[in-house]
This record gives sequence, structure tokens and C-alpha cells, in this order.
Amino acid sequence: MALMTGDEYVESIRRLKMKIYMFGETVDNPVDNPILRPSLNSVKATYDLAQLPEHADLMTAKSHLTGKKINRFCHIHHSTDDLVKKVKMQRLCGQRTASCFQRCVGLDSFNSVFSTTYECDRKHGTKYHENFLEFLKEAQEKDWTVDGAMTDPKGDRGLSPGRQADPDLYLRVVERRKDGIVVRGAKAHQTGICNSHQVLVMPTIAMGPEDRDYAVSFAVPLDAENLFMVIGRQSCDTRKLEGSDLDVGNREFGGVEALVIFDNVFVPNERIFLNGETDFSGMLVERFAGYHRQSYGGCKVGVGDVLIGAAALAAEYNGAHKASHIKDKLIEMTHLNETLYSSGIACSCEGSETASGNYLIDLLLANVCKQNVTRFPYEITRLAEDIAGGLMVTAPSEKDLRHPRIGPYLDKYLRGVASTPTEDRLKIMRLIENLTLGAAAVGYRTESMHGAGSPQAQRIVIARLGNMERKKALAKNIARIK
Ligand code: SF4
Ligand code: FE
Repeated sequence: MALMTGDEYVESIRRLKMKIYMFGETVDNPVDNPILRPSLNSVKATYDLAQLPEHADLMTAKSHLTGKKINRFCHIHHSTDDLVKKVKMQRLCGQRTASCFQRCVGLDSFNSVFSTTYECDRKHGTKYHENFLEFLKEAQEKDWTVDGAMTDPKGDRGLSPGRQADPDLYLRVVERRKDGIVVRGAKAHQTGICNSHQVLVMPTIAMGPEDRDYAVSFAVPLDAENLFMVIGRQSCDTRKLEGSDLDVGNREFGGVEALVIFDNVFVPNERIFLNGETDFSGMLVERFAGYHRQSYGGCKVGVGDVLIGAAALAAEYNGAHKASHIKDKLIEMTHLNETLYSSGIACSCEGSETASGNYLIDLLLANVCKQNVTRFPYEITRLAEDIAGGLMVTAPSEKDLRHPRIGPYLDKYLRGVASTPTEDRLKIMRLIENLTLGAAAVGYRTESMHGAGSPQAQRIVIARLGNMERKKALAKNIARIK
């Protein structure tokens, strides 16, 4: 069953007995929960799209391990073409869901753990790559969604993992047994965790020899004993409980994040991919972050396409679309969005082969891509709000629109051009609200800033890979300075 249908995916998640907390209560059935369901639907879209012949080239690939057709979200990149297709697939998924579809953290962790375990084994004689290949084979065969989990809570940012007042603020090994390890700690802001089959944990920073217990990577199922998650709030989240399609802006899709707590979780030996080799922690972090910074040049661009389209419709629906400043704002939004895409594609085209045989993006360009993502969606959002006008935050509820007495007044006074139903105008206002201020703003705005690393994290890599010495030499050469 190397390719699951969307419905099969939903049922496979339903079978997991996850421990999820939300609003101070346990959620017994996340699959049918109205607050969580839209986020499940976004992941489901990655399965549904893979079933369509017209998207087979982007959404599926051939496994290099088994030769079988698999979902591209489970694929190991073996060429720059694979890297480019990944970005195009993400743009497509962003266009179809207008939200974070969550599955890329798994893909990015697969590819970074694949190459790092290979190099670690060569140096240390460990067996992590073998372990990982077995895990990957199962993930491909069962078409798993895997949550790549990197971000530790980090406590005092001025202190290394081992020097924290509370040693659990970075996830660590607390016991080494013959048959495996016991880990304790947490991973924060975990995208899509309650919609995943497995979690693949990685360290969050480069480490020194004293942080041996923190240099750990492994995979466990989401219903592992002593593992639980606490769902993060989103702006307007409880609106989903009101039963109004119109008021939520995006009825079908959304994203979800959670704090995941590992309260003494056992990991069997065969699922360990790093255990104390601190010299490979930095490599794993850099590669995962690099792949995920590339990802944003696809997913955020797809969501941006929807937002730009919504802004254009808002202008058409109120008759402002012919004004030159509106046209110019839409051009600016498009320019910014395509600039993000350009760097996503560029870092993919400039990718190269690692020692393990898979392909890594150009790290400098991937970091430039994500640095742009920390800025441009904010400007695109600002322009969308400018075009939308105040109605996107003052529009009354659907219940008022349907009210027998006041509804006709709203229909009359909130209409723009006579030929467009007021309801359609309100739908677009709500979609723009959803993307810029509402539930999806987590994925489009703040995640653009902090997801895959905050802006400063990219600037550190840009400083390191920017090769200032060569630039100075070029200038000296032209200026004829010896
Ligand atoms: Fe994928 Fe983008 Fe969500 Fe990351 S933020 S998981 S790249 S959709
Ligand atoms: Fe993300």
C-alpha cells in the first residue's frame, strides 16, 4: 500500500490512540474535532492530490529503496530535478489548502537524517543509517506522515543545554539501556503533530562534547507511552465551533501546532539515528533547517497566490479594480511572491550530491530564500489589507446576514458592485481575514517569521557562506590594490 487514499489516511490517524490536550481537556477523537479537523484535511490533501493523474509527476516519485511508486513527501531527493519538484509540489499544496499542510517537516527530516547518519556511520562505525533505512522503508510502504521535530523549548537562550537550571529544557537521554534509550524533554511549535503517524526527533543546535545526552535523534509513533501533546491556540479558533462556513473564511483547511512532551519515552535501539555523537548534531540541524528554508519558497508562495487572488476579487467586488494604484499593488504583491519562489527554485537548481547520494539544496540560497520569507509575506499581507478595506474586520456574522429582519439591510448596505452578491463579497473578506489575522495567519505570517528558524538564524548562515574574503579580493583586483 505504498500510496494511501485521503480517506485511508484519515482512518489510519483515527486508529492511533494519541494523548492530546486542548482547552484543559483531553481530546478523545481529534479526527472529528471541529477545531482540529481542518488541519487534518490539509494533510489529507497531500494524499488526495497524489491520487490524481494530472499531479502524479509532482506528487509522487519512485522509491530508490524499493522501486515502488511513493508519495513525494516520503522521497529521498536524488537529483536537482527532485529538489525543484519538491518546491513545485509545495506551491501546489499551498494553493489548494491556503494553509500549512504540515507534511514537509517529515520530508525534510528524512533527507537530512538520511545523509547525516551516513556520514556519522562512516566516521564512528555506528549503525544509524541502517536503522534509518529500515524506518524510511516502512514510512514509504505505509505512506506515513512523519513530524520532523527539532525545536526545543530552550529555556535561557544564554546557556547551553547542559547548563540550564532545568536540564530537561532541551530533550535528552535520561537512561541508556541494553535494548534502547529513555528520553525526556519537549519539542515546541510542532506543526501537524496530531495529524502524523510518527515523530522524528532531532537536536536543535550544534553541540559540544559536554552535551552528549542532548545529541539524540530517533523516531517513535505518536501514540507511544508517556508522549502527549498540548494544542496551541490560534486566533479565532473557537469560531470553528459556531458552525458557520462563511465566518471561518476557510471552511475546509487549516494548520495546527502543539507542544509535545516526552515524559520518559522509551526508544528501541533500531529507531535511534544519533545517540551522543555531538559532532554530527550541527550537521543535522543545518541540513534540516536548510531543506525547510527551501520549503518556504514553495508553500508560502502557494498560500500567497490565494491571498493575491482574494485581494484582486475584493477590488472587483467593490468596483475599485480599474484604479491604477490597485493594479500596481497587485503587481507588487505578485512581484514579491514570485521573488520568494525564485529563491526556492534557485537553491534547488544549485543543489549538489552528498556523500550518501541524496541531494542537498544550496544552503546559502536556501537561507536567502527564508530570509525573504521573514519579510515579503508581511508586505503582501499589508497590501491585501489595504485593498480589502475595513470591512474585513468589521463585517457582521453570517447569522446576522441570514436574520429575517436585519439580513436584508446587510445585503443592501454591504454590497459593492450591484452584480456581485453581498455574500460573495463577505466570503472574500473572511478569507483575507483568515489569512492575515485569523487561524491561518499562524501559518502565513508568524510562521513566515519564525518557522524553519527566526531571521537571525539565517543571517548567521548567510554571514558564514557569503564568502566576504572572495568579494574583497574581487574588489581589490578591479581597483588594482596589491
Ligand atoms: Fe510545509 Fe510550509 Fe507547513 Fe513547513 S510551513 S510544514 S514547509 S506547509
Ligand atoms: Fe513550518
